[in-house]
Amino acid sequence: MLWRELPKIDAHIHILPREVLDANPDAEDEFSHAVWADYRRLMERYHIERAVVMPLNDPWLMSMAFTVEAVHRNLSELCEQSEGRLCCFADVDVRNTAKDSCAQLQRALKNPCFRGIKLHPNNSGMNIDDPYNDAIADCAVGLGCPIAVHAYPASAREQDRGDFCAPARIKAWMKRHPGLRVIVCHLGGFQWEDAVELDAFFDISAILPDLAERFGVREAGDILRRFGAERLLFGTDWPFSRTLRHDEILDRYMDLLDQMAFSEQEMLRIGRKNAEELLLSPSPSGIS
Ligand SMILES: [Zn+2]
Repeated sequence: MLWRELPKIDAHIHILPREVLDANPDAEDEFSHAVWADYRRLMERYHIERAVVMPLNDPWLMSMAFTVEAVHRNLSELCEQSEGRLCCFADVDVRNTAKDSCAQLQRALKNPCFRGIKLHPNNSGMNIDDPYNDAIADCAVGLGCPIAVHAYPASAREQDRGDFCAPARIKAWMKRHPGLRVIVCHLGGFQWEDAVELDAFFDISAILPDLAERFGVREAGDILRRFGAERLLFGTDWPFSRTLRHDEILDRYMDLLDQMAFSEQEMLRIGRKNAEELLLSPSPSGIS
């Protein structure tokens, strides 16, 4: 089977709310491409049945009121208008106290549109192993939901193990939170060797074409196999990419994954089953 034909869940995309797009009609940056109608067309073309919209820990990108409450309102609206095609992760604004953030997360996660919490240490400027994020982890364990962590240090800090989102920091943080389910986004970037040992799930968004560009397709495939199909989630980070234009991303993902020749069982695991089990099945706390 070809990856294009496999019914898939894209575990990591970005869509901007209508109010933000409308307020910036002349924007031509990568954010201006994060349009639901455009992604919806790609879902048809590439057999993507559902997708997870990730917030950015940056209320200026996801609302015009610039508050986490407004971000959650916009995300739930997007989800509710998608006829079951989109779900989302809840946002955190580190300007609020950790206690307030937890209360906002508890409110948001009452809505079944929200399936987890996103932390973006590089956008918030807060290390993932900061005590603030201990409180968020406790909150997630209480809610029975996973936390997705942006983990792709910027190119200048590619090998910096002190980066906000470095896998070494994720490890220190996870150690303090047994029972916390974590999705390490982007495989940990080019610090993937530190990430591979973590007891977590990993999405291949953003990093897959970058790995192939640097190491070649065969070695990139070997790296994915080091993580193992049981722990990988198909995801693209559409419309963002460090190496591709937004309209090249899906084709390139399909092409690279086809070349990596995963078994049909592995494809099913990576392409949908892991995401289904982790994100779409009822959580232990009863949030469906
Ligand atoms: Zn992303």
